[in-house]
Amino acid sequence: MDISLTHRLSFKQASLTVLVAFILGTLLSVIQIGLDYASEDASIDREIHSLLEISHNPAARISYNIDAELAQELVLGLLRSPAVMRAEIVDNSGLVLASVDRPPAQSGYRVFSDFLFGERRQFEDPLFVSHAPGEALGVLRLEVDTFAFGSDFLRRALLTLLTGFARSLLLSLILLVLFYAMLTKPVVGIIRALSDRDPRRDLGPVPCPPGHERDEIGILVAVTNQQLSNTHQEISQRREAEDRLTQYLAELENIVSARTAELKATNARLTLSNRELEQARATALEMAHVRAAFLAYMSHEIRTPLNGLLGMLALSLDGPLTSEQRQQLSIAHDSGKVLVDLLNDILDLSKFEAGQLELEQIPFDLGALAEDTASLLSQNAGNNVELTCLIDPQLPAQLLGDPTRVRQVVSNLLSNALKFTRFGRVDLRIEPTAKGIRITVSDTGIGIPEEAQKRIFQPFIQAGAGITRQFGGTGLGLALTRRLCEAMQGELTFNSQEGFGSQFCAELPLSSHAPASSWPRLQGRVVTLCAPGSGLAEQLASWLPHWGLEQQRRAPDTPASELQAELLICDSAERLAQLRQQLATPLLLVSPYGAFIHSEQAERLAPFAQLARPLARNTLHQTLQSLLEPLRAGSSQAPAAPQERMHQARVLLVEDNAVNQLVAKGMLGKLGCEVAVAAHGGEALDYLERNAVDLVLMDCNMPIMDGYEATRRIRQSGRWPNLPIIALTANALPDERERCQAAGMNDYLAKPFRREDLAALLDSWLPLTTAS
Ligand code: ADP
Repeated sequence: MDISLTHRLSFKQASLTVLVAFILGTLLSVIQIGLDYASEDASIDREIHSLLEISHNPAARISYNIDAELAQELVLGLLRSPAVMRAEIVDNSGLVLASVDRPPAQSGYRVFSDFLFGERRQFEDPLFVSHAPGEALGVLRLEVDTFAFGSDFLRRALLTLLTGFARSLLLSLILLVLFYAMLTKPVVGIIRALSDRDPRRDLGPVPCPPGHERDEIGILVAVTNQQLSNTHQEISQRREAEDRLTQYLAELENIVSARTAELKATNARLTLSNRELEQARATALEMAHVRAAFLAYMSHEIRTPLNGLLGMLALSLDGPLTSEQRQQLSIAHDSGKVLVDLLNDILDLSKFEAGQLELEQIPFDLGALAEDTASLLSQNAGNNVELTCLIDPQLPAQLLGDPTRVRQVVSNLLSNALKFTRFGRVDLRIEPTAKGIRITVSDTGIGIPEEAQKRIFQPFIQAGAGITRQFGGTGLGLALTRRLCEAMQGELTFNSQEGFGSQFCAELPLSSHAPASSWPRLQGRVVTLCAPGSGLAEQLASWLPHWGLEQQRRAPDTPASELQAELLICDSAERLAQLRQQLATPLLLVSPYGAFIHSEQAERLAPFAQLARPLARNTLHQTLQSLLEPLRAGSSQAPAAPQERMHQARVLLVEDNAVNQLVAKGMLGKLGCEVAVAAHGGEALDYLERNAVDLVLMDCNMPIMDGYEATRRIRQSGRWPNLPIIALTANALPDERERCQAAGMNDYLAKPFRREDLAALLDSWLPLTTAS
């Protein structure tokens, strides 16, 4: 490590010291020279004055005596003094007795001397004798050249300055050497020792320069060594930590790579199982499709012969039969119907599983639907069971939803309730709720044991082992009903107590499409003769006041004299004759269909009407109106049973199956239609070319030309634009309807169909004529 001289500490210190010493020395020299100058300046005057003093007496005497010769000698003597330039003695009258002079000394330094002491000085000594001091004898005049003194002074000053400089120079040299030896050298030694150190290998202390152990350098070395040892310790700790960290990192890397390998393996396994799953899913989907297709095929295959079977049985039942034959055929017909229902349930469940169930969203009258269903199922009700339809007067006239599915829910719940109830009540209650509607079916039947309650929604499960034997059924109804409710975003709940009855409640979020219907107002006081807990009492209490009637319930055995009313409603025929004898009030009998009284007897009871349970609002209202306001209503007779609607229309039945041909032909004939039959689409087209037809019933699956193709051709020809074509199909899958529509068919009738279904369809597509 080389440090240039000027940057060395010793040099800096020495030069600083020398500068200070030089300035101080110069200052001292200047002061000394100043003092010397003052004393020299004073010594000039002093010396000349002492010369004048010495010369005073001789000069006075010379003047007194006016001795020019002596005067000359004196002034010459004075001129010998090196400083005197001119000397003269002048007498009192101004006469110069003697005068000598010489030129001033010449020198290059004269200017400095003249500057300091002046060029020359004049001294005058008035001459007198001591005994007559007041008498002036003349003047001794001296002119002095100051350079004689100044040159000495300048020499001395120069010497003073030079010695001062020499001293400073010497001092600085000595100091430089000393500082170097004392400071620079040991410090440079330490620096070199530090810079030459290898921090990895040289771990010992830095040596202290000899002789400096106790001074600042020694302490500096000690402190440095301390710091070095601390640093070294810290570095070794860090190195140790680093080593540990590296070790951990290596371990971590090993773990990570092991995990990565594991993950890769799992990933590969997952990908494989995903692929397998995909394959399984694809297979499952394919199987579902195959199953759906199989179901469609199967339904067609089973329904077609079933259709024939049921149709033929129905036709036979309409003909002349012995009662035994009728009974046997009825059983066969009922069993066939059960088979169709079972088939429908299985198909519906399969549709749920295949995700193919599609819900309609159309306006429908839930009240009428519930009443129709209840009326249809009322034939299943036991003799001692009172089936009542309790429809809330605030129920909207139209709701938005799928009427077929809602009908299924109502019908399943109601048929269960009727099946499991031997006596008491079965109520179908429909009421609006904040979220939609609530359909409640409650019964007073056998109830469901608690342990069975958890299972009854599972397919093919019944509450007890003896149920099938005793009541029949398959255990599919509730499973299907619950799924239907869930598909409609609703829920099905129930509570039941064994031996006391059950209550099933379907909450469906159906939105209102039209507000509650407003009925024509009725007037009058109506007395109902029925038991307090009866369904009829409850139903009448809710509807009669709503229609504006004053309603009162009385016990069935209330004496006639206490019955003042415009109308009496009874739930049993027992007292009718007796009442008629005592009262002229119109009578209305509400009883099960089977308990209707004969028409001759009814005529005797006039004004009288009888209605079947469960009461439907519309019929009840009409009947009440006709009994209470006979003139307005036109007749006081009970409304006649609906007459058979007859269609004097020409219908072309396109159907390949001979049995189905017979069934449909029979039904159409009974409905008043003239029927022509074609065995396939081609024949149908030929027939249409030649004959006028009002409606075509078109089977879909036929040999030679199927129904879709035949319809397409009929529509493409454009010759029969308004001809209604109704599809007949046993394919129960949802896309069937769309397929028929796409082919150009107007409506759709699923096989096997009942006469009522066919009649309803003809009603909507043909002009109505009523048979006389
Ligand atoms: P199914 O009636 O064809 O046997 P469901 O699924 O409709 O099948 O009903 C399952 C079972 O639940 C019935 O077998 C019966 O044990 C019980 N159950 C359903 N409804 C009622 C009810 N209203 N009263 C008593 N038991 C009922």
